[in-house]
Amino acid sequence: MRVDSHMHTVLCGHAIGAPIEYATAAVEQGIDVMTFTCHIPMEWKAFGQAGIRMRRDQLDHYRQLVHDTAVQAKPLGVEVLCGIEAEVYPDEARLEPMDEILAEYEWDFVLGSLHAQCQSYLIWLKENKIKDDYMRIDSYFRHLKDGAQSGRYDSMSHPDVIRTYGVVNEFNPAEHEAVIRDFLQAVVDEDVCMEINTSGLTKGDFEVHPDPLILDWASEMGVKLTIGSDSHRPHSVGQFFDTIQPMLHDKGFKDLHYFRGRKRLRIDMPTWD
Ligand SMILES: [Zn+2]
Ligand SMILES: [Zn+2]
Repeated sequence: MRVDSHMHTVLCGHAIGAPIEYATAAVEQGIDVMTFTCHIPMEWKAFGQAGIRMRRDQLDHYRQLVHDTAVQAKPLGVEVLCGIEAEVYPDEARLEPMDEILAEYEWDFVLGSLHAQCQSYLIWLKENKIKDDYMRIDSYFRHLKDGAQSGRYDSMSHPDVIRTYGVVNEFNPAEHEAVIRDFLQAVVDEDVCMEINTSGLTKGDFEVHPDPLILDWASEMGVKLTIGSDSHRPHSVGQFFDTIQPMLHDKGFKDLHYFRGRKRLRIDMPTWD
């Protein structure tokens, strides 16, 4: 069985293609379950609005779109689930309107993302006088740890995205082992998941999120995984899964997880042989 638990719709304003095209692409990739996780509406403008995420008054449309796609995709043999990519942020007050959305609707899956490149986070770093790369990276993983402990999210997505988009000049996980392990331990203790996000292979340093060294620690510590292509176009569905999943298997990850109705489900790690 194969799953892809992170993809977007045109409603975010920076994705292309009809949702059914994503489903067709999933069929071609042999994927059995796919989860849309479009960017959650955020009230504070610094999180980005048009072109980044749908408006709050588009949520019903989003859910209908995913539901309609599920109906269309069922005869093709693909189950389509409705999730959302929520934000992680150090100032809890900024998350209150988002929490309302998480409570108001029944989601299959909630991702927790700290988009370090977003104005919102850059403002936080500035206000807290966190200037050098070392401090930025440490604070990023501390906030991810807080996110894992918040109970809001099912899986912590693209967990080292701070290394891309020029937020820091260099990212060497070995220099941040203690703080990264603290984050991983929180994921284990809170019994949530961490996401393997293959979109990292298409940007910046062309490496999977998180870095393979972090994956070694995660495997050793018993972290549970979800996997997502973070597709913003149909062609990307399941991207690099054929090489990344065998790599994960070699690192000792024998299971993969996905969520339906916020309930975690286990599958064998696909090996693609
Ligand atoms: Zn996006
Ligand atoms: Zn994201």
